[in-house]
Amino acid sequence: MSPYTQGTGATGAHELIDLHTHSSCSDGLLAPAALVELAAARAVRLLALTDHDSVAGLELAQQACSLRGIRFVPGVELSCDWQGRELHVVGLRIEPRDAGLLLHCEALGRLRCARLQRMGERLASLGMPADTLVAAALQAPVPTRTHLARALAAGGFARSTQEAFERYLAPGRPGFVAAAWPGLEQVMGCIRRAGGLAVLAHPHRYSLSAAQLRELLGRFKALGGEGLEVSLAGMGRSDTLRVETLAQRFELAGSVGSDFHEPGLPWRPLGRFAKLPAAIRPITARLGL
Ligand code: AMP
Ligand code: MN
Ligand code: MN
Ligand code: MN
Repeated sequence: MSPYTQGTGATGAHELIDLHTHSSCSDGLLAPAALVELAAARAVRLLALTDHDSVAGLELAQQACSLRGIRFVPGVELSCDWQGRELHVVGLRIEPRDAGLLLHCEALGRLRCARLQRMGERLASLGMPADTLVAAALQAPVPTRTHLARALAAGGFARSTQEAFERYLAPGRPGFVAAAWPGLEQVMGCIRRAGGLAVLAHPHRYSLSAAQLRELLGRFKALGGEGLEVSLAGMGRSDTLRVETLAQRFELAGSVGSDFHEPGLPWRPLGRFAKLPAAIRPITARLGL
């Protein structure tokens, strides 16, 4: 079996699954239907679309998946604050028309627009044509730092979006402005009321000590959290082992995904990541798949 082949528990056969992806409805580059085409080309059989603070792409992705015979899980990735840190929680199998979730996404859209304007003020103070850059980023349905980074790269202020983050937009860099994200409790409630399963996204990427991660997972579990991303594209073996231990300790199911954003980024390849460790209960079983 290839290291990229997913055993999916209840589904039996070695199916490729990807439960963390982005489309152009947030900061991905592919429209939902094009994302599904790529998933089909890579033989992904079970796909979740989890755009940042948006459910706008779910209907189109669902339709494209049914045409392609791919099973679809409607999802979302919500940004939130826990103890002054930014965390991401993925909601799987959410109801895309849930009124509370839609209101949450609308409010986050306003917060993101206001934040980008403030980042524009920072860039203006560096002598950059901030109005043009911000206007380009605000064209996006969910304006993120990625869109501002793309505008900076397109304007010749960085050689790539990655470099735009490193020079201007990452925390501590001169264009960065922190966002007042909603609290962890609020986003957990939002996902659960929309019928979703809450999965803590990429736990290895937060700069948290082992003790802080345990405190976070205790709280996450108490708030009804169900899963942890145990196998994600680009995750090292030691990260996977650490997260695997935490999933067992807190009795959380394991989720898997690429966090795919665009075909040009080889470190987040759609549908390609190490298989879930055998000791971990797959979240697909909780999804009834
Ligand atoms: P935002 O939610 O507006 O803060 O934008 C965050 C998005 O920017 C994330 O979802 C990532 O896709 C992307 N991102 C964050 N940090 C970096 C980085 N250092 N390099 C490239 N992309 C990044
Ligand atoms: Mn992103
Ligand atoms: Mn994330
Ligand atoms: Mn993501």
